[in-house]
Amino acid sequence: MTVPFRARPPKETTPVGRFRAPRTDHHADDTACPPEHRHTTSGKPLTPGCPGRAYSKAECSCGEWSVKHAAKGYVDDARRQHLSTAH
Ligand SMILES: [Zn+2]
Ligand SMILES: [Zn+2]
Repeated sequence: MTVPFRARPPKETTPVGRFRAPRTDHHADDTACPPEHRHTTSGKPLTPGCPGRAYSKAECSCGEWSVKHAAKGYVDDARRQHLSTAH
């Protein structure tokens, strides 16, 4: 069996950055609150139909880690720490 030849192999990545854990924001009913949904600095929704961000979560692409918290700063800190210390 022959393996199809790849003209351009995928770029070699550095050990740091192999995994991703993007933060996603959610409404209280678990639906996504996408970045298009604008909020005031105090968290009040400015987008019609948006009930407001209830919590944020991040799930690492390693599949072994996730975090869920009401404060998005907490989620950002936790995922940064995971990405820099785990794997
Ligand atoms: Zn929203
Ligand atoms: Zn991970």
